[in-house]
Parts: sequence; C-alpha cells; structure tokens
Amino acid sequence: MTDTRHTRLLIIGSGPAGYTAGVYGARAMLNPILVQGMQPGGQLTITTEVENWPGETEIQGPDLMVKMEEHARAAGTEIITDHISDLDLSKRPFTAKGESGTIYTADAVILATGAQAKWLGLPTEEKFKGFGVSACATCDGFFYRGQEVVVIGGGNTAVEEALFLTNFASKVTLIHRRDELRSERILQDRLMKNPKIETLWFHELAEVVGEDDPLGVEAVRVKHVKTGEITEIPCKGVFVAIGHAPASELVKDQLETHMGGYVVTKPDSTETSIPGVFAAGDLTDHKYRQAVTSAGMGCMAALEAERFLAAES
Ligand code: FAD
Ligand code: NAP
Repeated sequence: MTDTRHTRLLIIGSGPAGYTAGVYGARAMLNPILVQGMQPGGQLTITTEVENWPGETEIQGPDLMVKMEEHARAAGTEIITDHISDLDLSKRPFTAKGESGTIYTADAVILATGAQAKWLGLPTEEKFKGFGVSACATCDGFFYRGQEVVVIGGGNTAVEEALFLTNFASKVTLIHRRDELRSERILQDRLMKNPKIETLWFHELAEVVGEDDPLGVEAVRVKHVKTGEITEIPCKGVFVAIGHAPASELVKDQLETHMGGYVVTKPDSTETSIPGVFAAGDLTDHKYRQAVTSAGMGCMAALEAERFLAAES
C-alpha cells in the first residue's frame, strides 16, 4: 500500500538552503518534512575545509552539514531519506512522489535542490578532485597563494574565477576552446588588463598531471583543438569553470526558469511563479553560489512560506 504523508511545509533538498529552511520552518511551528535527496548534506559534503562559514574559522564541509542536519532536526524538522522523482505543482495540495514509494502532499513547498558544477569527465580530473582540481575558486583559491593555476572555460564564471584567483596566485592561465569569450564585455576588459592573467585560446584540457603521494597537481596537458598539438603547462591548481547545472529537472516545465535552468524568483524574495512554491539556494542563484547565501535564502523561504500559509488560515 502507498504511504501518503501530508505536511504544511515540504522542503526538498538537504544543503545549507534546505536545512536552514528546516530550522526556520520548524520554529514557525509548521512541522516541516525535509526530503534529503541523493546527496544528504548537499555539495559541501564533497569538499574538505570550509573557511568562509561565519563562526567557524575552518570546518570540514561534511562536518558542517552534519551540524546543520542536527540543528534542523533539533528544531523539529522531520528529516527523511528519500529522493523526489516527481513533483506536481499544478494544484494544491502539491504532490511529490518519493522513490521510496511515499507520496508527500504539502500546502507549501520549498525547493532547495541546489546545483552541480559541470565537469569535463576526464579520469585525471576525477583523480585530483579536491587535491588540486576544483570547481570553486571562492572556496579553494586561498590555497594557491604564490602559485600558478589554470582556469578552464570562457563564460562569466571562468572569467570571474580567473580574476578572483589573481588575489592569490602568481599567475593564472585561462584556457578556452575558442578564441572568443562568452562572458560580459566588462569582465573581458578586466581580464585582458590584468597582468597576472594569460589566455590560451583554442585549447582543451587533455590531462591533469601530478604526484600520487601525496596526491597533488604539477601540470596540465592541453590540446590545440585544431592541430591536436599537446602542450604542458606547469600549475598547482586547476579550476574547471565550464558552467553549473541547476537541479531543476523536477520543475523545469512547471516554473519559470532562466539562464540555463535556474528557477526565477521575484525580486528580493524566494517566491516562484506559483504561489506557495518557494525556491532557495543554488537552484535559483547563478551569481553567488555560496553556502552562506544559500542558507540566507533558506531562511527567507521559510519566513515567506509561513506568511503565505498564515494568510490563508
Ligand atoms: P546543495 O548543497 O547543492 O544541496 C542540494 C540538495 O538537494 C542535496 O541535498 C540533494 O540531495 C538535494 N536534491 C537534489 N535533487 C533532489 C530531489 N529530486 N529530491 C530530493 N532532494 C534533492 N560554498 C561556500 O560558501 N564555501 C565553500 O568553501 C564552498 N566550497 C565548495 C566546494 C565544492 C567542491 C563545491 C562543489 C561547492 C562549494 N561551495 C562552497 C558552494 C556550496 O556548496 C553551495 O553554494 C551550497 O551547497 C548550495 O546549497 P544548496 O542548499 O542550495 O544546495
Ligand atoms: P556558461 O556561460 O555556460 O559558460 C561555460 C563556458 O565553458 C563556455 O565558455 C563554454 O565554451 C565552456 N565549456 C562548456 N563545456 C565545455 C567543455 N566540455 N570543454 C571546454 N569548455 C567548455 O557558464 P557560466 O560561465 O557558469 O555561466 C552560467 C550562467 O550564469 C550564464 O548565464 C552567466 O552569464 C551567468 N553568470 C553570471 C555571472 C554574473 O552576472 N556576474 C557570473 C557567473 C555566471 P563555449 O563558449 O565554447 O561554449
């Protein structure tokens, strides 16, 4: 028999946005149910040191997420290990199908399904992930003070990452597969004027080269897309910035999205195009993509859900 659970507030996702929504939603006496998804704790569970979470000079990403989970649970959120495979926002109560077979119905929903950095899919990229290969300069740039790094990509993210990395690195090489950047002109101007940045056009990453013990990057081998010629560039850090994919599959045909799938929210709000459905964190945020901003949006979403539900009763 199918198990059906009704809740005033369903939170989908267990990253900083979801857990913070859980803390606030529970304290608003909404008895929220939070469904964790395939990655309990979200993106921070795949990193090591987090050094920009206020109140913690340094904390391991997975430890921070365990703390957030405990906090949401202690506040009164029911945390469920399940993954939502289908979500119907066409009528209320909203209906979510869990892969466990449970059906969740909810008066309000907070979407906090995050985003995932895109990777190139190279075996050596995978091997050195977290040990010299990163997709987040804001998070990891600090570790490359005085060292040479490369950035792969030609969009706003790649250019912003390259510019940000000049705060630490002695040299940044931006490697792009074309000779034209996709990024905004103003960013391109800043990039070209920065003496620490060199651009390498028409090249793709072929291989990351490094040591096994301890695991660490020493260079990249890049391939000219036209001639196939391989060049080796010494570097200690490789930042892959080829785009982020918001996890909006559940709602892409039901909610307004933009910029490659990010859920659109109203200005200064987490309200989506459907009343009673709120979106928080990286799912909506193509710009900042930080734990603290996601948590802030999780708070906003819960407060807005509370007001929405209160106005109805
Ligand atoms: P996420 O953390 O992406 O979590 C999404 C959640 O949604 C997951 O729990 C997932 O299981 C769940 N989910 C997805 N689909 C479903 C579904 N269908 N059903 C149920 N659940 C679902 N930021 C910093 O501020 N500092 C750092 O040092 C830092 N380091 C980083 C290092 C790495 C390697 C990466 C990848 C990111 C880093 N970030 C850092 C960015 C930060 O992790 C994100 O900004 C933040 O995690 C976004 O939070 P979120 O709650 O929006 O989503
Ligand atoms: P993006 O605009 O999609 O750019 C991705 C870049 O990576 C492109 O230059 C692309 O090359 C390259 N790329 C993609 N796949 C690749 C592969 N397999 N191998 C090599 N290169 C590859 O992604 P983004 O830069 O993350 O930006 C996403 C969205 O967020 C954009 O709309 C952007 O404007 C927005 N954004 C805005 C800001 C801001 O407002 N400040 C900051 C960051 C992001 P090609 O150019 O050849 O396709």
